[in-house]
Amino acid sequence: KEYNDVPIIIIGSGYGGAVSALRLCEAGKKVIILEMGLNWEKAGIPFSNLLKPGKSSAWLKKKSIAPFMNIFSLTPFTGILDRLDFDHINIWVGRGVGGGSLVNGGMAVTPKESYFKEVFPDLDAEKFYNHYFPLVREELKVNVIDEQFLEECPYYKFTRVGEEEAHKAGFKTMRVPNVYDFKYMEKEFRNEVPRSALNTEVIYGNNYGKNSLDKTYLRKALETGNLEILDLHRVQTIQMNDDKSYTLHVQQIDTSGALVAQKVFNCKKLILSAGTMGTLQLLLQSHAENGFPVHEKIGKNWGNNGNFMTGRNWVKPLSGGTGAKQSTIPVGGIDNWDDPEHPFFTEIAPLPMGMDVATALYLLINRVDKKGEVAYNTTNKSLTLNWNESNTSKMKENAQYFIRKMNKANGGTRSHLLFNNGFGADICYHPLGGCVLGEATNEYGKLKDHENLYVLDGSLIPGTIGVNPFVTITAIAEYCIENLIVQNEFA
Ligand code: FAD
Repeated sequence: KEYNDVPIIIIGSGYGGAVSALRLCEAGKKVIILEMGLNWEKAGIPFSNLLKPGKSSAWLKKKSIAPFMNIFSLTPFTGILDRLDFDHINIWVGRGVGGGSLVNGGMAVTPKESYFKEVFPDLDAEKFYNHYFPLVREELKVNVIDEQFLEECPYYKFTRVGEEEAHKAGFKTMRVPNVYDFKYMEKEFRNEVPRSALNTEVIYGNNYGKNSLDKTYLRKALETGNLEILDLHRVQTIQMNDDKSYTLHVQQIDTSGALVAQKVFNCKKLILSAGTMGTLQLLLQSHAENGFPVHEKIGKNWGNNGNFMTGRNWVKPLSGGTGAKQSTIPVGGIDNWDDPEHPFFTEIAPLPMGMDVATALYLLINRVDKKGEVAYNTTNKSLTLNWNESNTSKMKENAQYFIRKMNKANGGTRSHLLFNNGFGADICYHPLGGCVLGEATNEYGKLKDHENLYVLDGSLIPGTIGVNPFVTITAIAEYCIENLIVQNEFA
């Protein structure tokens, strides 16, 4: 098959890519998505669970790459979880048709309106809260756990203990919506259907229950007949041609990572939705290798969304800890955002190890006071990140404050089991920014210095949004693509 004169190519099938594909296909446009990861639904290979990492657990690695306790050796396979290692931070990302939606915890959190306004002063917040956020919650099939099920289900002891302890320490808690179908989970619990969240499935994929993008936006886009998804197609570099169209150099690989074919695609319109790190790699590498034009703001205003992991050991050891059986889907959070001294939000995270490890795990989301910067190293052909302990020092202070207060009220110690000194400053699940809306792009994601290139993914958000980011990424993508279509950018 020839791939010359393709009207629209989207690189990446995560949130930004899936939204763009659906809206363009609905508008009658023919679209190709190039995705470096595998189409798992088509391949028919089951996802593995946390206790037995298999094919899906890592992107071409010899060892599993969960944030902690990796004892499993692997045969390299194009799995769904990848980790990008930098000097002071490790960044986890999803690979496969559905991008990060395949690996993430499904927490579907709408940001606080006041913080959204602070981060995006130029956007019409009212329109986002009345239209785009409700729209994406519906498309993503966001739902909330039934309180009685939560109260009674032994798999949510970690949430009940976490909330009880937070209240005792004087913190406010909140229920967290999710894209995992809680009606399905109730059936799992009653053994009426195969188990997924209750069978330690999450970061290596969920075989059932979770409404990842392949079940929502991408499925709808495919149903229009206008979308073609080419999986295991990794874009290496992009070139801008004299007529302002683009040529993509692409490697098709097999599931062991071996090269199957080198391909060249030519397209008039190009949308970069390769995720924050993927999009920055493509732009900066192409710039270094073929002089691809990049605006001076590219790489700037990057952040880890204030991600900071911490944990506590021996939570109520006498009463049985946090439970041997745990659902992988988080439903509780601690909201300390309005505290001017220590503003943070934290997920009460599960730690389903198959036994009661009497450890409570928390993923804090803080403000990002000091942003980082992404650049490109031509010698080893990889991204570099200007980011070190100074960027996370306030986050650490918040984590210290949180753990001290929790331990004082409830007993327990900082968890040395999970992290060095009990703090995971270097764990990042939410890389954001580097191609910020209105700075490196116009107000709708069209890249400056280009006529036919758009960026629609997490890199548009300036490093922070105060909560788990995919609801915001999806809403911003909806807003941008709607306006780009109205402006006849894809006519
Ligand atoms: P992505 O979803 O990252 O998609 C980018 C896609 O582009 C990927 O499929 C990638 O394979 C592909 N790609 C990259 N480079 C290339 C290339 N050169 N050629 C072809 N394809 C390419 N967020 C939440 O809101 N709630 C959560 O509960 C949550 N939990 C998380 C848990 C984990 C373990 C992780 C890692 C993340 C979690 N996140 C969560 C974050 C969320 O998943 C991401 O913010 C989101 O997926 C980013 O969306 P995106 O559209 O920017 O790109």
